[in-house]
Amino acid sequence: MMDCKITIVGAGITGLACAQRLVRDGYTPLVLDKGRGIGGRIATRRVMLPDGAIGFDHGAQYLTARDRAFAAALQGLGSASAVWCDGAAEPHLVGVPGMSSLPRSLANGLDVQLGKEVTAMRAVQGGWELDLSQMRVQSHHLVITVPAPQAAALLGTDHALHSRIAKIAMAPCLTLMAALPGDAPRPFVSRVSDDHPLAWIAQNSTKPGRAGVFTTWVAQAGAEWSERHLEETPEIIAARMLPMLAEVIGVAPQSAVYASAHRWRYAQTIAPLGAPFLCSNDATLFVGGDWCLGARVEAAWLSGTAIAQAIIDQSRRL
Ligand SMILES: Cc1cc2nc3c(=O)[nH]c(=O)nc-3n(C[C@H](O)[C@H](O)[C@H](O)COP(=O)(O)OP(=O)(O)OC[C@H]3O[C@@H](n4cnc5c(N)ncnc54)[C@H](O)[C@@H]3O)c2cc1C
Repeated sequence: MMDCKITIVGAGITGLACAQRLVRDGYTPLVLDKGRGIGGRIATRRVMLPDGAIGFDHGAQYLTARDRAFAAALQGLGSASAVWCDGAAEPHLVGVPGMSSLPRSLANGLDVQLGKEVTAMRAVQGGWELDLSQMRVQSHHLVITVPAPQAAALLGTDHALHSRIAKIAMAPCLTLMAALPGDAPRPFVSRVSDDHPLAWIAQNSTKPGRAGVFTTWVAQAGAEWSERHLEETPEIIAARMLPMLAEVIGVAPQSAVYASAHRWRYAQTIAPLGAPFLCSNDATLFVGGDWCLGARVEAAWLSGTAIAQAIIDQSRRL
């Protein structure tokens, strides 16, 4: 049994922002994540091809900062970030050499344990007990930062917060990653489309630090198309999406040197909670995530930071 004062479930931006803020005040939170990498939905897929390695930002595409504190936090990431010139009026910030550089940089100095899935949680005397596949963790404070449907499942239907969390719907997003020869047409840097199944298409290789032999593209299907094809295998999804991308770019699908698909089951909040987090009556359990305030990385950062601040304020009052 591991004993902790504060345990955070999820090493996405919400969990990392919460942990960073706590560490600044002298706390030593433990961050657990079931994934193999840090960052959750900010992710970069690396693929080895005979001609070298390529990378795709298959989750969040770029960050925008409207909140002053969030903008300041991003500035602190230094060379891990750069502005992507994709023609947008608002600066689009990306990780360098991949989006995952951003959360990795935010995780500096934190105790993050990967490959640790929390399968159950229960209230015990003095806090919370978590079941993981090979261990148990006991913690005075517990912070859950996973997507709302997964948080509702962890809490269970009996918990007082369950009904508010279970109401938050999140739309899926099927994503295609494709590489084309370097001399293939490149008609645009990024494209948003409301009336095409591929709602977002980006020439990934135009982001700073991604130049290579191939032109890489990331295409995200809209919520409706994603919902319709959600349970298909990644191979079938890629086989459906590649011809659509090829048609938009003006190439033959067979010219792709690489194509694969990723399924994001809980990609985007449909209607957020409207508060930065939820908290149990005894203020030992906090539940947060992007879904509290919106559908963007900034919402995740604000939620995690607000949870940390609430824990800090609470202990100052004691
Ligand atoms: C395809 C796509 C494109 C996007 N594009 C943009 C964009 O361009 N700009 C933007 O600002 N935002 C974008 N977003 C949204 C953005 O990625 C999210 O708002 C943000 O990353 C959410 O962070 P989070 O920490 O709240 O959640 P997550 O990043 O989902 O982190 C939750 C973490 O919890 C872990 N976890 C889940 N269950 C358990 C468990 N039982 N035990 C242990 N760990 C667990 C997961 O592995 C994950 O790492 C996009 C999202 C997707 C999917």
